[in-house]
Amino acid sequence: MPSPSLSSIPGAPKFADPSEAFALRQDEQDVLRHARELFTIPRSPANGHQDAIYLTGNSLGAMPKSVRPAIEQELADWERLGVEAHMHGKNPWVPYHEACREPASRLVGALPSEVVLMNSLTVNLHLLMVSFYRPTTERFKIVIEDTAFPSDSYAVQSQAAFYGFDASAAIIRLKPREGETALRTDDILASIDREGPSLALVLLGAVNYLTGQWFDMPRITAHARSKGIIVGWDLAHAAGNVPLSLHDWNVDFAAWCSYKYLNSGPGAVAGAFVHERHGGGGARGGGAIDSPDYLHRFAGWWGNDPAARFKMGPDFAAAPGADGWQISNPPIFSLAPVRVSLGIFDRFGMPTLRAKSLALTGYLEWLLTRHDPDNPTASSRFTILTPRDPAQRGCQLSIAVQGCGREMLSKLHARGVICDFREPNVVRAAPVPLYTSFHDVWRFAQALRSCC
Ligand SMILES: *Cc1c(COP(=O)(O)O)cnc(C)c1O
Repeated sequence: MPSPSLSSIPGAPKFADPSEAFALRQDEQDVLRHARELFTIPRSPANGHQDAIYLTGNSLGAMPKSVRPAIEQELADWERLGVEAHMHGKNPWVPYHEACREPASRLVGALPSEVVLMNSLTVNLHLLMVSFYRPTTERFKIVIEDTAFPSDSYAVQSQAAFYGFDASAAIIRLKPREGETALRTDDILASIDREGPSLALVLLGAVNYLTGQWFDMPRITAHARSKGIIVGWDLAHAAGNVPLSLHDWNVDFAAWCSYKYLNSGPGAVAGAFVHERHGGGGARGGGAIDSPDYLHRFAGWWGNDPAARFKMGPDFAAAPGADGWQISNPPIFSLAPVRVSLGIFDRFGMPTLRAKSLALTGYLEWLLTRHDPDNPTASSRFTILTPRDPAQRGCQLSIAVQGCGREMLSKLHARGVICDFREPNVVRAAPVPLYTSFHDVWRFAQALRSCC
């Protein structure tokens, strides 16, 4: 987990050769080189309808080729069996989400009973806050990053307002020091200490969407919990990007979407984690209704104990574990790609993906920042906003480009690059290890250096 120096990461690569031949050689030696064949990469008219240099896997992951047959299978079962596909389809729909349980638990470092695939990300954040944000007049504040994704910001503000608190007093926004772009862990802990007993919840994006900073999750979680504060993590940019151990880190709850690094398609079914200490289940969901252990939740039939679900009785008894937070039966056509995608992550495993990711992102950083005798000012145009310590980031680099604005995006596009731009001059590039080659990274660096 986040540790202070590059040298502490085994095998952290060093680069010295800026040639195209070097990039091609790295691809030949890449143990993941065949993983790309599992995906369809969008084509770009700018490079003769070859694969684009697709660097927006942090926004919408590329499509696995096996997604189409997986959805077609469910369409075929609907055609062939109608309602009976719930029990008798090739992949019966009633227990369909259970097929995602084990691979999802490996992905986020959880027990299988601690994870469930349901809803979408912001919806899950709200549903989990129903249970885990229970403000009192003394303890009601929520800590987020100042640059939190807007949806998270709206979600916590509306939760505080829902309980009658003034959002501007209830939401504590963590800002980096003057002139810095990343938050320092010590400063985060100090803010938690400063607010102390008024804090109800710490809810951070594990990897910040804008800067790409990966927070020290175990340290922040342990520190906040030692003060009686609930800790939730938004894993939108972390799940499938960095290795996670939610159970061992004692995280209270977490949620993530499946369409970014998890390549499950637009609006795909999202994930949720609830630590086993909260997942008791039963009619009181963790305690008697008048006891402090009582776990508030918004209930629906899919969260009911499966043994009783189809008895259609009027009273709810939560299924044990994260399953007990489900409300509705899931959209099978949106869950089919998640199942495919989690299978791909399981096949390669996060350690292998992380090892390539460190190399690929380190290579991109080096190509952009190296001194080039033929173009000595080029590297001074780039400021990497993402922490330079690989242990504090995933695959994304956020790069501020001096003297360039939005026009940069169309120039990159004309060179076959699909990446993301944030005002005023920031390019976000995510060379995801499953389907990005060293040659892609090399060509992107060439394009960025030459486009302004
Ligand atoms: C992408 C993203 C979201 C999007 O939320 P949806 O509910 O899936 O639309 C929310 N929060 C963060 C941090 C994100 O990166």
